[in-house]
Amino acid sequence: MPSKPRNRVGEVYGKLTVIRASDRRTKSGNAYWWCRCSCGQDREVPGDKLSHNSARKKPLVTACLDCSREFQVEGVCAKNDREERQRRIDAEARRSLLKGDVPDGWLSLPLTDAHARELGQVLFFRGTLCLRGHLAPYRINGGCLTCSGQKPSAAVQHDDASG
Ligand SMILES: [Zn+2]
Ligand SMILES: [Zn+2]
Repeated sequence: MPSKPRNRVGEVYGKLTVIRASDRRTKSGNAYWWCRCSCGQDREVPGDKLSHNSARKKPLVTACLDCSREFQVEGVCAKNDREERQRRIDAEARRSLLKGDVPDGWLSLPLTDAHARELGQVLFFRGTLCLRGHLAPYRINGGCLTCSGQKPSAAVQHDDASG
């Protein structure tokens, strides 16, 4: 008979409120607790994952599975957004230095891969050299135009004409 765990009913961890003990135990003998998420769903959580000590290495559980997944997606999106914004700022800065050195058409291309997708275009120009040292626009999913054997300026004109 495992020792009776401390009664944690009523404790709140993030969106979860502990509502009752579970008979389940972890391999190491920790009690599971049924928790109700603020969205209304219940989740069975091992007691050692319910903690206010966020400095611990172990991931803590603070929401039901669905809400946790949402948090995660939000977190990833926020991070991607930040990185993408920074990429565009960097690209803009590099391109402003290239004015006059590259065809003007390149400077009106989307700034990044994601920017091109947003605008429904296939080319973008970040003002960076490719791995082989070419300064040329990139095709989304395709890499540097010079590497792919195309004449960059022609490709840009062609895309301008069709778009
Ligand atoms: Zn939830
Ligand atoms: Zn290249």
